[in-house]
Amino acid sequence: MKRTWFQRKWLLGFSAVAASLLAAVGLVQSPSATAAVVLQYHHVSEDSPPSTSVTPERFEKHMDYLANHDFTVVPLEQLVSALKAGEALPDKTAAITFDDAYESVYTHALPVLKKRDWPFTVFVNTNPLDENKPGFASWDQLRQMAEQGATIANHSTAHNHLQRFKAGESASEWRERIRHEIVKAEQRIEEETGQNHKMLAYPYGEYNNKVKALLEELGFVAFGQQSGPLGPHSDLRALPRFPFGGPYGSLEDFATKVKTRPMPLTETALYSDWSLEQPLDEVVVKEGARPVLAMTLEDASLADRISCFASGQGAIETRVEGNTVATRANKPLTPGRTRYNCTAGTGESGRFFWFSQQWLVTGENGEWQHEN
Ligand SMILES: [Zn+2]
Repeated sequence: MKRTWFQRKWLLGFSAVAASLLAAVGLVQSPSATAAVVLQYHHVSEDSPPSTSVTPERFEKHMDYLANHDFTVVPLEQLVSALKAGEALPDKTAAITFDDAYESVYTHALPVLKKRDWPFTVFVNTNPLDENKPGFASWDQLRQMAEQGATIANHSTAHNHLQRFKAGESASEWRERIRHEIVKAEQRIEEETGQNHKMLAYPYGEYNNKVKALLEELGFVAFGQQSGPLGPHSDLRALPRFPFGGPYGSLEDFATKVKTRPMPLTETALYSDWSLEQPLDEVVVKEGARPVLAMTLEDASLADRISCFASGQGAIETRVEGNTVATRANKPLTPGRTRYNCTAGTGESGRFFWFSQQWLVTGENGEWQHEN
């Protein structure tokens, strides 16, 4: 259904008023009180690709920071259960995750985590382990990590871009292939470790509506790698994590991110342009697009304090109407993964509300969606 800007504002304004009334009488806890973060690492090593690595020294500094600033490190499934139950997440709570099950997690991260008796999660793409590929942990090493409190979870079998079709593949063939890549990985993890959590991290953090729907149908909760803390409005089929590696992970950057609070939103919507008349129902857009993210805030007074940034473009334009803030890239998006990040000071020293929206940008004719 199409609504005019005015009608939409009225509806959103009404829900915001209702929410603040409920909050005022103590019926709901303000979501901004919640602040759990999920950290995402790949390699913990000095001789792996820098873009997906933190050094063992840097990793230890991150863990020291959490310990010295009274963070509670919890198993990832505990955060998922709380979100599912609609419970508030306590402030200064973190879960630690590693994607791809690289051997350096066993060699360099495990001793640091074991020392503190901290839980962590390894998202495993099972094929390299089944093939004993060098650089990856073995199933035996994963079992040892599990004995030390590691959660072993799903990163598919083959680490494909799940939303992409192979050349000539029909929609039903694609669906069957992806279903198999997820279900088979879950089965291998259970056979090797006895664990079965139905939690998946999307390879490359990439998903579209069809992938999310398939995961939901299979009963999975899924994580992306768009940045941001978890909040009461987080999508259980695409939960945010803060990736560290490459340019991200200096102690200053780490400290800022682990202290973030979820942007107090009631709703987000995507549109093709500033008119906000053509809704986008998909995060996949074509090269050259400049899509709009519209965020409806619980509290209109926050609207003027929000700044947004686009990957490779720096600060981007925002427009405010009542309690809705819309933002759009200054320049056309180029093929690949790209994100809009929006932040606003919470009023507490060094703390920010944070929300990130991922876009997947295909080539002009959409060919980027194909898997080789
Ligand atoms: Zn991965």
